Amino acid sequence: MGQEKTHMDYAYELDIAVKPESRVPVLDREFASFTGAGVPLFSLGGGYYRYALIDILARFHARRGYYVVETPMIANALLYKVSGHLEFYRQNMYLFKIEDHDFAIKPMNCPYHILLFMHELARYRNKVPLPFKVFEAGRVHRYEPSGSIYGLLRVRGFTQDDAHIITPGEQAVEVVYNVFEEMKILMENLFHLEITGETVFLRLSLSKRDEIGKEFMGTREQWEKAESILEEAARMIADKYGVRYYKEEGEAAFYGPKIDIVMKVVEGNIEKEWQLGTIQFDFNLPKRFRLYELVKEIYGIEDIYIIHRALLGSIERFLGVYLDYYKGRLPFVLAPVQFAIVKILTGDAETDAKISGLAERLLEGLVRNGLRAGIIDTTKVSISRDVRKAETTVKPAVLVYIGKKEVEEGTLMVRPYNHRKRSRDKLVIEYREPEDALEGLLKIAESLERPVTEISGYAPRIPGVVNHYF
Ligand code: ZN
Repeated sequence: MGQEKTHMDYAYELDIAVKPESRVPVLDREFASFTGAGVPLFSLGGGYYRYALIDILARFHARRGYYVVETPMIANALLYKVSGHLEFYRQNMYLFKIEDHDFAIKPMNCPYHILLFMHELARYRNKVPLPFKVFEAGRVHRYEPSGSIYGLLRVRGFTQDDAHIITPGEQAVEVVYNVFEEMKILMENLFHLEITGETVFLRLSLSKRDEIGKEFMGTREQWEKAESILEEAARMIADKYGVRYYKEEGEAAFYGPKIDIVMKVVEGNIEKEWQLGTIQFDFNLPKRFRLYELVKEIYGIEDIYIIHRALLGSIERFLGVYLDYYKGRLPFVLAPVQFAIVKILTGDAETDAKISGLAERLLEGLVRNGLRAGIIDTTKVSISRDVRKAETTVKPAVLVYIGKKEVEEGTLMVRPYNHRKRSRDKLVIEYREPEDALEGLLKIAESLERPVTEISGYAPRIPGVVNHYF
């Protein structure tokens, strides 16, 4: 028995990330584990994955009323002095100097997002609509001891699907509830993960009452109100979706209570917890940036909350857990190889010319339409070995078979991977002209993209001829 594959094996097979122990021929051993810095090196297929995913996330959030931004990778350390990170989070930060000034590599996006809100207020005053919601696929870097770095799950540089919501108290329950719905929609439509009372639960991390003002900053009233907002939202989610929630006293961060959305995953006989989204209140940042005073002055609103939230956590970590869960099978829109055309040659020159001609036209047509496709050259004798090779490496989302029967009868056998069933579906396209066959494949692509189109208005198409994988 070989060892169980891990997410890093799948990421490597799919050509999304380089394995930490990969050897580079020209470099010496010192450099051999060059990803040992704790930052995953995304390889060629990883480019398709990252750009497509971030594109979907940006459009999805924009359609739901978030501003989509990108903030700089470095900052004057003053920003993190104001936010308090320099005081409380310094051991996790990378600091350096530029012309005698202290700078930091961004460990968190929040201070920048708050700055953006303040700039908007300075310019447009009370015309800035509340809740103010800002989204960023924000890359952050944090120190982790080398011993704890692991694959894509524990790294020093990662990309959060990060958002901050600044909301008046009276809309806060709705805000929290909406974040849950966003997570549900994204998981179901993009990742084929069912979010129900059976599969997920909510964990509410609350304060310990007699520690408020000591271990937990802020006033008792502040905490009671925020915790009741979270619980009311949790109750609404429970009522509508049958998702249970649990309260854990004393588990909150010092700056505020939170809800984690946790998925139950069974691997072998072991039930594991997979933390998906998180929704976190923060009493610290508004105080440090004097937002309470500012919002009161501009809007006349007394109770305002800052909420941090992420749906995936980080793109890297989520990818790792997902690859483990689905054994390396990515959704169609994110797969580095979307179509593999299996060209089954016969040895008969005339038939083979027809087979090759059709395969080439389909490849050209798919790529022209923005899809990623390649050709697997094979014969009747070696087909199962060649297809297995593709299945155990780049795992094409859709296999298209073209052989003697197909060109003679005007049919195509198409086998898209079905995540719900964890196996391939079997479809047949009938065609007269090659253009009809292409049309058929494009329809299949559209149907596989449809759930994503529904939530983000379009499915990103980043084309590529991916023949070198086969
Ligand atoms: Zn934040």
